[in-house]
This record gives sequence, structure tokens and C-alpha cells, in this order.
Amino acid sequence: MRLFDTLTRTERELRPIDGTTFRFYCCGPTVYGPAHIGNFRTFVLQDVLRRTLETGGIRTLHVRNITDVDDKTIRDSQKAGQTLTEFTAGWTAKFHADCEKLALLEPHIEPSAVGHIPQQVAMIEALIAKGHAYPSEDGSVYFKISSFPAYGKLSHLDERELDLGKTQNARANSDEYEKDSVSDFVLWKARRPEDGENFWPSPWGDGRPGWHLECSAMIQEYLGADFDLHSGGVDLVFPHHENEIAQSACACGGHFAAHWFHITHLLVDGGKMSKSIGNLYTLADLETRDFTPMEVRYVLIGGHYRKQLNFTLDSLHAARESMAKLAKGARKLAAKTGGDITLDSAAFGPFQAAWDSLNDDLNTPAALGGLFTGLRDASQLTGREAAAALAGLNRVLRALGLTLPVENEDPVEIPDAIRSLAESRWQARLAKNWAESDQLRTELATQGWLVKDATDSYTLTPI
Ligand code: AMP
Ligand code: ZN
Repeated sequence: MRLFDTLTRTERELRPIDGTTFRFYCCGPTVYGPAHIGNFRTFVLQDVLRRTLETGGIRTLHVRNITDVDDKTIRDSQKAGQTLTEFTAGWTAKFHADCEKLALLEPHIEPSAVGHIPQQVAMIEALIAKGHAYPSEDGSVYFKISSFPAYGKLSHLDERELDLGKTQNARANSDEYEKDSVSDFVLWKARRPEDGENFWPSPWGDGRPGWHLECSAMIQEYLGADFDLHSGGVDLVFPHHENEIAQSACACGGHFAAHWFHITHLLVDGGKMSKSIGNLYTLADLETRDFTPMEVRYVLIGGHYRKQLNFTLDSLHAARESMAKLAKGARKLAAKTGGDITLDSAAFGPFQAAWDSLNDDLNTPAALGGLFTGLRDASQLTGREAAAALAGLNRVLRALGLTLPVENEDPVEIPDAIRSLAESRWQARLAKNWAESDQLRTELATQGWLVKDATDSYTLTPI
């Protein structure tokens, strides 16, 4: 499989360094609220990468962390009146539930920052001993950027208009991103009154690790100084991943990640997602609108990971239609096998092009297109050939992590009179005419139809 690498800016073959297992690390969620669909774009694409490797016969070791201590988790746990542990446990559970719905394979190892404080302290000690870090007056410890000449290679800092000279001695203490400055960054944050009970002892006094450090420490613990691939959304390239490289290379030696896989951001209706604009969608928001997690997954893989993906509710409707078409095609193909079954084969038959697309820089939209052309090409096949084609289709679907809907062969026809009653009821509801809306609901029920309301639409099902 070939994949674009952020560091070298070239497509390169993915091969396990140790010849057996492809070992990779993904920066995981910060658990202070529900993950949004932008986060899930990144996690879903990482999942497709893993599934594609595994479908191609490569064993993987997938490590994804949980960020359960930083400025935001501390701030919001206090707002919620919970301990940091209770608060982050709740959001971690919600994240896991969403991942399961979206058919994300569980990482083999899911370490958390709070669970690895001693490893982080040890890494800071190593950095100080080697002259790459220094304690400041207040008991914090900083990484000394000028001690690592390779700083900036991943994000190609030399090509960016940053005044390196001016910022060289600056320090950054916040966990929030410092997008436009290059500064000595914090490894250990001295305890502040607003941290409450959230601090740990260290040789430099009470405090807590800086955000960048946790990934370096956990990578060293579970993958060592050399591993196959590191991944996150593009926003992590600088400074987070740049800082991880600096910490790990200086503390542990080695080459760190052999390959860098960054997923471009998801936009909503052409713009950035934000709570204040009200266009920040979680999986739960979309489920309330009666979309299924599989439809969400389909949309998330519907664009190439190196291009921005513009999410709209319309794209979910389109996903529903596409999946229904694929399901219909797959059912027709299954019917033509005449009971022949090909359990598993290395061949993809008419779905070879779809499979090749996945292996060509994880081109998921081309792979989805290949499912449709594959079904068209398979339409003449029967018996054993149809069974082999079906096995090929299922392998590509498995790599994409898609389960097609089990469609009702005879979609329910809604009589015009029922439709018009339901429409009148919806209008009454919009006008907040609750009495009339209730009366029409009862009327529909009497006639054998159940109305279910979503935020901006409704569904009708026979009782
Ligand atoms: P966070 O929980 O903020 O640490 O983010 C978890 C993952 O989601 C990281 O890999 C981020 O880079 C990624 N991410 C954040 N926002 C978006 C977005 N709008 N589109 C795609 N990935 C994103
Ligand atoms: Zn990280």
C-alpha cells in the first residue's frame, strides 16, 4: 500500500519495520465533551487505513491515547462539579460508545495521560540531563528549542513566514495551540491555584505534564524509539507533532515515526465548525435527525483524506441513497450465486479497482465508486463466479468498515390519504397547535400508522 507522508511530501510504500507487524500511533481525543464529526473524520480514516492493511494480510498494532488531563479537562470538570477522573471517565465512555456505533475497531492499546505520569516525569529528567530542557523560576520545565536543530522539519517551518529570531526565547505554557509562534514549550506545568486537586509530585515541585509530552512518553512505552506510522488531523502537525518529535528524538534517540499520516479537516456547510455558530455536529445530533451511524461513516469516507471534506445534511441523504443502491446490487449478486459460497479468496474480481484505489493513497471516494462499477460488471455473473465476486465485494466493504443496510424488499407504500394527514399534522406541529397535532396523531394511529418526529422531519411506519 502507498500513502502520502507529510514529512517527505511523497507517496511511500507502507511496510512494517520489523517485517511482521505494522505498529502505529494515533493521537486520541481530549475527553471533555462529545467528539464531533470532524474528530470522527480523522478516527474513521485511521480505521480505514488499519482495515486496509489487515485486509491485505498485514498484522497491525494500533495505539491511540486518551488525553484526560489538560487545561480544558480540568476547567470543565470543575464547572461540572466532578473530579477530573469522574469527568473524563464519563466522556471516555461516550467516546467509546460512538466509536462502536461508527464501526471503529478498538485500538489494541489505549493508554491515558493520567495513567502515565511517571513515564512523563522520567522523560523530562532525561531531557534535562541531556541539556534539552530547563526548569524555570516557577517550577515549570521547558523544552529548549534551540538545542534541537532539526526542529520544524515536519511542518516545513523554514518555508513559513515566522520570525524565528524574535520568538526563539519565548515560552509557551498553554495547552491550547500556539499556531504562529515558535517557542520553548512546556514539559511540566507548575501547580496553579486554578488546577485544584489536579497535580502530581515531581522533582521540580507539584504540577502536571504539558500536553505534548504524553504522546512521546506513551509511544516510548508501547512502540519504542522507532515505529511505522504516526497520525492525527492536520491541526496537529504544528506544534504538537513537531514537539513530539523534538522530545522523543532528544530523550530516546531513534527515528520516531517512519511515516506521517495527516487527515485534512472537515468543514460544515463550507465553513469551520464551531459551537458559537451552532454548526458543530456530534453523532448524537445526527442520530436525532434519524440518520444512522453507517450513513455518517459513508459521508466521512466519501472524500479523499488530503482534501477538505464539506459536510452537509444533504450529503447524508445522498449517502442513504447510495447505500441503498449498493445493498440492492449486493442482494442481486447474492441471489445469482445459486447457493455457491466463496468463503475467502485473495482475489477481488470485479472489485479489484476498488481495492487498488484503497491501496493508492487511501483513495476512499474512488473505492466507493469502484463498488458501483464492480457491481455493474458483476451483473452478468452467475454461480461460482458470482460467489467469488461477492466475496471480493465483502472484502472491500470490510476494509471500508461499511455494513450495508438490510433493506425491506417491498418498501412500504404510504397511501396518499395517510401522507396528507401526516403532512397536516406536521404543519400543525410547526404552528405549535398541539391539540390538533395530537388529534391527527391519534387519527393516524387509528388508521395503523405511527409518526415519529425528528428535529426537522418525521417518519411514518406501519404499526
Ligand atoms: P482533539 O479531541 O481535539 O484532541 O482531536 C482529536 C482528533 O481530531 C485529532 O487528531 C484532531 O486533529 C482531529 N480533528 C479536530 N478537528 C477536526 C476536523 N474539523 N476535521 C478533522 N479532524 C479533526
Ligand atoms: Zn499526540
